[in-house]
Amino acid sequence: MQDLSENIQQVHNEKLGRHLVAGLPIEPGETLLEERPLLVTPHWECGQLKCAQCLQESYVMCRKCQVYPLCMDCSQHDDFECEFFASGAGKSICKDLLVKNYGICGLLRLLLLLEDPTTRPDCQVLMEWPVNLEDYRDGEGMWQEHEEQVVRPLMESGIMELLPSQQLTSDVLHAHCIRIDSHAFEVTARDGDTLKGVFVCGASLPHHCVPNTVVALDEEFNMKLYAAVPLQPGDIIYNSYTNPLMGTSQRQHQLRLSRRLDCTCSRCQDPTEMGTHMSSMKCRECAEGYAVCEMDANGRMGDWRCLNCKSILPAASVHELLAEVGGALVDARGDLQVYESLLTQYRQLFHPNHFLLLDIKQNIATILRAAALMNSVEQPCKKLLARRAELCSDLLPVCRAVVPGLSKLYAIGLFEYLISLVELIELQFAESDLDKKGYVGQLRIASQAAKEAMELLRFEPENSAEGFLSERIAMELERIESDLMKYGR
Ligand SMILES: [Zn+2]
Ligand SMILES: [Zn+2]
Ligand SMILES: [Zn+2]
Ligand SMILES: [Zn+2]
Repeated sequence: MQDLSENIQQVHNEKLGRHLVAGLPIEPGETLLEERPLLVTPHWECGQLKCAQCLQESYVMCRKCQVYPLCMDCSQHDDFECEFFASGAGKSICKDLLVKNYGICGLLRLLLLLEDPTTRPDCQVLMEWPVNLEDYRDGEGMWQEHEEQVVRPLMESGIMELLPSQQLTSDVLHAHCIRIDSHAFEVTARDGDTLKGVFVCGASLPHHCVPNTVVALDEEFNMKLYAAVPLQPGDIIYNSYTNPLMGTSQRQHQLRLSRRLDCTCSRCQDPTEMGTHMSSMKCRECAEGYAVCEMDANGRMGDWRCLNCKSILPAASVHELLAEVGGALVDARGDLQVYESLLTQYRQLFHPNHFLLLDIKQNIATILRAAALMNSVEQPCKKLLARRAELCSDLLPVCRAVVPGLSKLYAIGLFEYLISLVELIELQFAESDLDKKGYVGQLRIASQAAKEAMELLRFEPENSAEGFLSERIAMELERIESDLMKYGR
């Protein structure tokens, strides 16, 4: 199910448990691990029945077991699963089990994998992964979600008595749910819906907010992990389980919720966040200073202090402000004008790269992109196109800084930028706002961005979202190059 590069070694220590390190020098792009998912399942809260075989939408049931949904294209699903409900131990179970409680299907699949002697060994590493239930019990949201969507319906179905060797209790089922969640990557089904793929090895790598690897997932849910940067022998192989465009306090909050993890990585301990100042505030005492968070020896966040005049900005007032902007962002509900005025208002208080300003800018860029698509037949407004290109270009240096090396984030940022730039300059050129020389100069910038993005995506599988993006960029580049040939002499 998994294939480890021979340049990688499995090691074990107290702090990280089982993990991987580089055994030899490794080049960016080199494949470190390939893995098939142990199981792929809809999210717990999914209400739409999915085909047990291909996971696309489904409205009919398997004729043999009458428990699992199938689609029009698939005539059968896993033998053991089908047989279990058709003529095996599960045949006494209510046939509506999944129709009534579709959320249980991921856990049910794991239970049947554990029951089937031929697949049980594949689950061993997952089952050995330690779960301390007390860390989760009554925790925010997650425990309750598992309880209501999965554990209780499954307990009430009576299936526990049919799988006596597994000694299933409510706690055992909760631990299984947590194991599934903490080993899952989001994967995309052919119909565009997102699902959870459980990757026993690839999704259990230790976390670092600046990962040294890239996870690639293709249409068949195959995972490939490759190096993002050069690795030296002994380097720990890290992955990231947070959004790199979040600030330290946000990332840490998310990691605590989803993984019960207190991150102390180099980015979390660097108050400037790798020079980006994504959590820095404008000083209220001096005109030109920025205040950064002071950390104690354990990496705990304290007050903010101006790097210029050394005056203090108390943590409490920073948190209050963050909560205020967070609330305003929720209230904005996709309104372009509201976002623009929030940006003007809060620009006075935050560093230009602050994660909340970046969030507002991303929201505006998304709205403008949708508007450009809608207006494509009519004349798109030059002012909006220019604004979109400007915002995309603002985000680029931050995207570059927070994910070094081969970076999908930066590649996607470059793509967004180049698309908005090309749309803008084509219109400006057509309306003679831009002369031939100016147009060619801008085309060269766009061509450079396209080439750089393709270079960053060159290790992505062809049959993946990033592979298709790469094709799209190649088409764009062809168009740019042909205009350069035409006007560039
Ligand atoms: Zn199907
Ligand atoms: Zn069946
Ligand atoms: Zn971190
Ligand atoms: Zn100051």
